[in-house]
Order: sequence, then C-alpha cells, then structure tokens
Amino acid sequence: MNLLDQEMSLFFRTYRRLPLEIDRGEGMYLIARDGSRYLDMFAGIAVNALGHSHPGILDAIRIQSSKFLHLSNYFVQSPQNDLARMLIDASGFRRMFFANSGTEATEGAMKIARKWGSSRSKNVLIAFTNSFHGRTYGALSLMDRVSYREGYGPFLDHCLTIPFNDAEALRKAVTPETAALFIEGIQGEGGIRTANREFIEEINRLQRQFGFLLVADEIQCGLGRTGRMFAFEHFGMRPDLVLLAKPLGGGLPLGAILGGEAVEDVLEPGAHGSTFGGNALACAAGCVVVRELTQGNLLANVQKMGERLRDELLRMKAAHPSTIRDVRGIGLMLGVELFDEARPFVDALRERKVLVNSTDRTVLRIVPALTIEETHVAEFIRALEDVLATR
Ligand code: PLP
Repeated sequence: MNLLDQEMSLFFRTYRRLPLEIDRGEGMYLIARDGSRYLDMFAGIAVNALGHSHPGILDAIRIQSSKFLHLSNYFVQSPQNDLARMLIDASGFRRMFFANSGTEATEGAMKIARKWGSSRSKNVLIAFTNSFHGRTYGALSLMDRVSYREGYGPFLDHCLTIPFNDAEALRKAVTPETAALFIEGIQGEGGIRTANREFIEEINRLQRQFGFLLVADEIQCGLGRTGRMFAFEHFGMRPDLVLLAKPLGGGLPLGAILGGEAVEDVLEPGAHGSTFGGNALACAAGCVVVRELTQGNLLANVQKMGERLRDELLRMKAAHPSTIRDVRGIGLMLGVELFDEARPFVDALRERKVLVNSTDRTVLRIVPALTIEETHVAEFIRALEDVLATR
C-alpha cells in the first residue's frame, strides 16, 4: 500500500493531501520517492525560509541535540535566551513568550489583551474579515470565514470581525471597551490582501483616541517574507504585540509573542505557559534563521527576487488579461488572482514539477524560500507560461 492509501485509513479527514510522496528536500527542491525533482514555491506554507536541509540549521539541531532536547520551562535555557535576545534587538520590543505554533501565539495575545483590559473596563477584541489567526477557539472567534467555523460554535463572546480595509466600519466598531485590534498586514490565507494606507492611518488615529492594543499577526507575513524583518515596517504602524511562528523554528514548531512597553508587566508567574514552548532544538534552529535575516543579505535577496517575480507576473497578467485578474503582495509573499478556480493551475504546475499552493479559491500563493535565486524564478516563470499557453 502506498503512503496515500495508508493515510486514508489512518487519519481524520482534515487535510487534502497532494498526490506526492517526498523522500527529501534540498534547498529549493523536493525530491520524490521516484526520484523526480520539484521546484518548491510554497516552502511548507512559508515555513522553510532558508530552504530545505539548510546546513546551518542541521548543524544547530545536531549540536543542541547532543546537549539536551527538553528540560521544561522550570529551567532557563541558552537557546531560548539567545533567540529572544536576537528578536528583541531586531524589533525594539521589550518582552517575549515562546509558544509552539501560530494559533498558540494568537491565544496568548488574546489572553494578554483581555488581562490588560480587565483593569481598564475593556474586553472587546476586534479582527477583520477574511483574516486567518489559527484554528483554536480563541483564534476562530476572531475569524469570519464560514469554512473554518460552520458547525463549531459557540465561540468566545466579545469578539468582533469587521470588514478589512474599511475605515468607516472601523470607526463605527471601536469604542472605549475595545481592548485590542488583531490585524494581518498582509492577509495570507485570505488571498494575499494588503492593508491600505488610509485604513492603517485610521487604526493609528483611533488607537490614540481610545487606547486599545494593536496586535500584528505576522505569523505568515513576518520575519523577512516581505523584504523587511517585520511586515508592519511597511505600513507605518507600531503594534503593541507581534505574533510570529511559521519560519521562526527553521522547520521545527515554534511560535512567539513579542510585546512592547504597554504590556510588559501584564503576565504574572503561572498565568500563562507551555510544556514545549521554546523547545531547545526549535530555538537553536531559530537562531540560525534570525541570524541570517539580521546579519546576512537575505532581506536584500527577498527584495530583489520579489521584484523580479512580480515584474514577470505582471508581464504575464498583461499577456493573459482574461486569465489573470490581479497580481499583488510584497516581497516574496505574492498572490496571482485568477478569474477561475486556482486548483487546476496548481495541478498543471505540479505536472511540470513546480509546487505552488492556492488559497481563497482563485489565488495562487507564491511564498518560496527566501533564499530563492534567479534561476529558480526563471524556472517557475517558464512553467507558469507553459500552463497559461495551454489554457
Ligand atoms: N496566523 C496566520 C496569519 C497564519 O497564516 C497562520 C497559519 O497559516 C496562523 C495564524 C496559524 O498558525 P498555526 O497553523 O501554526 O497554528
């Protein structure tokens, strides 16, 4: 029996698996059990920022695994401290917390916001339509998409989801009871949609007026994906809390919450925690990722390759105006919106040994490793051109 047939009889039906059996990854490529090489343009959904089998990450894991794997958070641990130091230095934030995943980072931030608001008569959490913050109950309570929520209610009280990029709706929704606003500067699962300037300016103005916390969910768009360390740097916003995950652990599970001055004393010992959060291997690998981002020329590469990809995609849009509706995004977080379903394009690209992912039904999501080079861009564009030519 092959792996796919086995999986059908083993698991709850939560995932739509690709018809591929991967043996190993090498840089920008995944190699299947039958030896075929696939150009990986979605990098484990924006996780493998340094590509597959990065030697620095493998070394860090090997060295740390020869010391200890897990101690529990009763112990201070140098991989945690090292990574925290780098993140705090890179962000200018004051305190942080390590979780295991994105959704746990969201949950932690929701708790911090509610606790912060509890002495200020503020308990309403606001988020935006089409956003994705995770799949646990707190995160789902901030989201509006039927496909994630239908049949799973009731959700948490005092959580509102209001239209994204709608300054008027925001003005109506924010009150003195608003404890926090959760925003993805670039919505990832929601189809690579970017917050607009007017909307951000209104958020900043309302924050000054009402004094709520601003939480930037940078789980997908943060840590170099846009060509800057944090996506909020593009938008002129200064969040009180930033959520990180996906690429943070270099392929191992790791999430984080960074907090500014307003929240630095909110949590007390015992109030929040995690058995595995800040796992030593994940933090050791994370140090390699963050070092590459802060000391190497990775951000410059993202800017250059992002521009290159974007130019090529815009050229294709001009050549195929009845197939491609829009090209959008920043850096290496790009979306190609089609007039029709994106899945047949994903399948056709896979037949040509290129892996991309689709989101929001009609959008091809392009989130390759940040280490992508010109030759990979050219290989991807050739395959996409070939698919478009057969339409
Ligand atoms: N927030 C954003 C913006 C995400 O893209 C995701 C995952 O796709 C999450 C939260 C949830 O992260 P996780 O799947 O690690 O729980």
